Amino acid sequence: MTKKELDPYVTLICTHCAFFKEDDLDMECAAFKVLKSMLQEGKITPEEIKNAFR
Ligand code: SF4
Repeated sequence: MTKKELDPYVTLICTHCAFFKEDDLDMECAAFKVLKSMLQEGKITPEEIKNAFR
């Protein structure tokens, strides 16, 4: 397991992304930042993210 995979937001959002690279620890695209912010503010739930990838 890489350092980046330990970040719960990366696990939740990035591991489903076509651009995800385990060795790129610094990537934070606009979509990631928006989703992370919405999760932190309670505007969306982790379950809603998981459902979106189904
Ligand atoms: S930061 Fe954005 S582009 Fe990079 S893996 Fe995560 S969702 Fe994909």
